[in-house]
Amino acid sequence: MKECKGIPVSEGIGIGKAKFVTKPKFEIKKKNISEEEVDSELERFNTNLENVLQEMDYLIQNFSHSKDNQDILHTHKMILTDPEFIAKIEKMISQELMSLEQAIKKHFTDIIAIFNNMENQYYADRSSDYEDVAQRFLKHSMNLKGLDFSKIDKNSIIFVDKISPSEVTRAYECEAQGIVLREGSKNSHSAIIARSMGLPMVVCLGHHDNISENEMVILDGRKGKIFANPDEKTLQKYSKLQEEETTRQKQLQKLKDKEAITKDGQKVGLMSNIEIPEEIVQVIQSNSAGIGLFRTEFLFIDRKNLPTEDEQYKIYKKIAEKISPHPLIIRTIDVGGDKLSSILNIEHELNPNLGCRGIRLSFENIPIFKTQLKAILRANTTGNIKIMFPMVSCVQEVINAKKIIEECKQELEEVNNIEIGAMVEIPSAALNADIIAKECDFLSIGTNDLIQYTLAVDRDNQTVAKYYKPTHPSVLQLIKLTAEKAHKHQVKVAVCGEMASQEEYVGLLLGLGVDELSVSPAKVLSIKEKIRNADIKEQQKRAEKILQMSTAEEVMDFLEKE
Ligand code: PEP
Ligand code: MG
Repeated sequence: MKECKGIPVSEGIGIGKAKFVTKPKFEIKKKNISEEEVDSELERFNTNLENVLQEMDYLIQNFSHSKDNQDILHTHKMILTDPEFIAKIEKMISQELMSLEQAIKKHFTDIIAIFNNMENQYYADRSSDYEDVAQRFLKHSMNLKGLDFSKIDKNSIIFVDKISPSEVTRAYECEAQGIVLREGSKNSHSAIIARSMGLPMVVCLGHHDNISENEMVILDGRKGKIFANPDEKTLQKYSKLQEEETTRQKQLQKLKDKEAITKDGQKVGLMSNIEIPEEIVQVIQSNSAGIGLFRTEFLFIDRKNLPTEDEQYKIYKKIAEKISPHPLIIRTIDVGGDKLSSILNIEHELNPNLGCRGIRLSFENIPIFKTQLKAILRANTTGNIKIMFPMVSCVQEVINAKKIIEECKQELEEVNNIEIGAMVEIPSAALNADIIAKECDFLSIGTNDLIQYTLAVDRDNQTVAKYYKPTHPSVLQLIKLTAEKAHKHQVKVAVCGEMASQEEYVGLLLGLGVDELSVSPAKVLSIKEKIRNADIKEQQKRAEKILQMSTAEEVMDFLEKE
């Protein structure tokens, strides 16, 4: 038996066979064609060329908020529209009987080699432009998407270098037993989705090499352990733990129709977070009192084209109808930071988490922002949708965003009134919560980012993970301050960051004055159990005591001992 220790990312136990998953390679299988195939290959060239150029035009018009970026795209377009390039590819296809992909590869490899051999650094650097263009074209013509899941089934433990949020969903759909990543972190969006779907996940830095394809593996998502080729005793132990977990889940089901109310009668809005529409199934199963955070990034990530207003409208409307009469809080696009989108063509930034993300990106791309807002406003026929803005740093941003909503309303036919809220994720927003609350109907604390920005710790950087401390006294003070300041204006405060989904923090958050919690769908019932066992008065006293503590570790010790 081999045992490895990794970083626990999503709880649960998986038992199955190790399956290594990789990205499909730019491997050109068909290099030559027959004479009969020439016409169709030439047509494929034209269609793909048109699609790639259309994509580039779209990027130039809609997203290139930097001149540099636009210039690069224009240069790439010139490469592809050069009559010499077109004639050469056509010749390679029709006379040399090369497949489209082979012709593209050969053409660009030759050019890149010439540039690479140039002594002048400026020209040598240009080779990367040709590499980019070739990649973009081949991605289109070979229809290359993310990871190859073809061999994954319900007995698989996936071993992979990195995984995107949508790929986690695919792993779930394949009923995989769990995921072992070489790179990743607890606070990434892939990790959030894995938790939401109850899919065990561990980040196991560098240990992949000790494990072979098809080897029997146990994955302990709570402790971050991996056992390969386990002995009988270990296998029995984990099979038993898996059964116990199933029994606990069955017991929790008894709480499904019970209220989320404390022992002393305070009702707590207990909602769910979702990242993709498919999660609505888990939300309904858990009987949540609404969706407190619908992250809409999936519409902009891992896609070739931007979502249209109609596409968004249909998605929002369907979810709003399913969750009605409970609220659906739609957060406007929050791409940036670790949530990268190729269609938004976000410039490379040295400090992406402090860069053009969240509401800032929407202000830089007003047409996209308005498309989303209009889709939301139109979808709100049930009257239960609310809009929430991410990464708000000051009240002026809320005021500006509200003006844009007003513009959208005027451009539409009559729409229902809609409540507007802001996320509190930056210390400045917490310190100004009273000023911001005056402009909002609700506030929601995003602890994932609030911790990152308060403690200056990149939430996705494993090297500094030990500095990322939810119980840091400064974070707790900011939560309390936000609640106090918002309550002055009768505005309710929720927590939708991951802290709300962790049982050990429930009492503390309620004691700090938080009114509502929005949690991972898989955690609704266990959090409800915590709420039902809590007494608000007691929790307030306990929070006061905790706020006197000096370190995150002291707070953790206190919470663990209780
Ligand atoms: C947060 O920051 O806590 C949050 C809920 O937003 P996200 O995790 O999507 O950044
Ligand atoms: Mg956030």
